[in-house]
Amino acid sequence: MADATLFQRIIAGEIPGEVVAESEHAVALRDIAPTAPTHVLVVTRVPYPDVATLAAQDPDALVDLHRLAARVAEREGLTADGEGWRLVFNSGPRAGQSVPHVHGHVIGGRDLGWPPG
Ligand code: AMP
Repeated sequence: MADATLFQRIIAGEIPGEVVAESEHAVALRDIAPTAPTHVLVVTRVPYPDVATLAAQDPDALVDLHRLAARVAEREGLTADGEGWRLVFNSGPRAGQSVPHVHGHVIGGRDLGWPPG
């Protein structure tokens, strides 16, 4: 996989990663540099570059990915009527996207400020 993205390499087992859950279209893996007690990335198996492209080209996969995020949050003890949690998609380098393969950040377990920095 010469041109594979970082997340494709982790999903393929070429480089280490802590996979915590999987679905038909997506894989959940713990972020290597967590910004909160729960910080899990939900990553599509197909490397769409960003969430807008995913929504346009494969809406079923986007729904599947969002359901996987909710499953991960619930497993981590995070619910909307409890501590709450956040799903964030950085889109583009100026918004903080460093890996051009769509991934949502499932974040929770601490007070989450708004607006984000
Ligand atoms: P973003 O900046 O929105 O593109 O998010 C990329 C995320 O990938 C960051 O939160 C990084 O900490 C995370 N990351 C980078 N390398 C790895 C890795 N090898 N395993 C797990 N997460 C990683």
